[in-house]
Amino acid sequence: MEAGERVNLLGLPRVELEAFVASRLNAKPFRARQLMKWIYRRGAADFAAMTDLAQDFRAQLGEVARITVPEIVSEQVSNDGTRKWLLRMDAVQGIETVYIPEPDRGTLCISSQVGCAMDCSFCSTAQQGFNRNLSVAEIVGQVWLAHRELAESRPGHGNGRHGNGRHGDARANITNIVFMGMGEPLANFDNVVAAMQLMLDDDAYGLSRRRVTLSTSGLVPALDRLRDTCPVALAVSLHAPTDALRDELVPINKKYPLKELLAACVRYIEKAPRDFVTFEYVMLDEVNDTAAQARQLVKLVQSVPCKINLIPFNPFPHSGYQRSSADAIARFRDSLMQAGLIVTVRKTRGDDIDAACGQLAGQVQDKTRRRGPRLTAAAL
Ligand code: SAH
Repeated sequence: MEAGERVNLLGLPRVELEAFVASRLNAKPFRARQLMKWIYRRGAADFAAMTDLAQDFRAQLGEVARITVPEIVSEQVSNDGTRKWLLRMDAVQGIETVYIPEPDRGTLCISSQVGCAMDCSFCSTAQQGFNRNLSVAEIVGQVWLAHRELAESRPGHGNGRHGNGRHGDARANITNIVFMGMGEPLANFDNVVAAMQLMLDDDAYGLSRRRVTLSTSGLVPALDRLRDTCPVALAVSLHAPTDALRDELVPINKKYPLKELLAACVRYIEKAPRDFVTFEYVMLDEVNDTAAQARQLVKLVQSVPCKINLIPFNPFPHSGYQRSSADAIARFRDSLMQAGLIVTVRKTRGDDIDAACGQLAGQVQDKTRRRGPRLTAAAL
């Protein structure tokens, strides 16, 4: 660190924050806990607001530290209540974060990279290629911002900076976090794990491991590392019952074919907070949705405790694919269920604002030109 450069406390792992507090501020470790509570639970972005810290300590903090959160470029609210934020990463690139309210929970879908290198043929993020990994602050900053925005939109929010997200209306709370936005989380392993540790930390967001879900295209060695370092709920993007087809849809399959991937899933379950893996399976018309493929899928996953989540394909320009018909999806689901599998069909949420799975793109320039300045819920 250069002299005079202030450290961003957002995203700093607990041990690093404790070390920072001791070495730079000459303070006791409990000050780190206090700071974490202010930053994450109470959503403070400014040391002056931390009223239970002595004034000279706050002044000292302001000299060596900062709390810098990502910038919101725009917000869109879907007819179904889904909210999508575009966050600026640089002059042209952005990432998207989506909040999906349901009667009994609120799920925040976050991004782990700008773009993605996995090159899945049916995903619009793939079309922009890989730009860079997100930092811990940028990953956990998505949760921070969503908390603030949701608190502000809650009735009677006061100044909106102090909603701790745990009480009150379940529909405006974040109860679950899924890494199903842009990017391959296991390809940004260290930052994703550090961010998840803050999501799980009781002095930060205090979520249980079962309520944080990492979704991966199947990076086998990283999956084993995750099992040993920070096991959370796991979703795996399966999408095909054979290597030949999966090679085409999810090219990382050429490196880590199905047999290896499924073996890694079984190893993962040994240490996972849930005793099953969720297999995601995007429904592509006449590509992976036939009766024969349903039978192949049943055979393929028979030795893995799992649930299957069928995702109706969400179209985007020039994808070359079409969504399976409702009939085809129902038939596929029924034949898996008849074989004893647990199957759900993902409800398509937020597609009127391009917030559905695989539709996140994150072009800052396009969006600002098209939609003008930031829209607020009230303006829509
Ligand atoms: N890279 C991670 C997480 C990103 S996407 C992964 O591959 O799992 C989250 C889910 O949305 C994945 O299962 C992904 O395959 C799926 N998805 C991508 N594009 C889609 C589209 N156009 N329609 C429906 N689902 C899509």
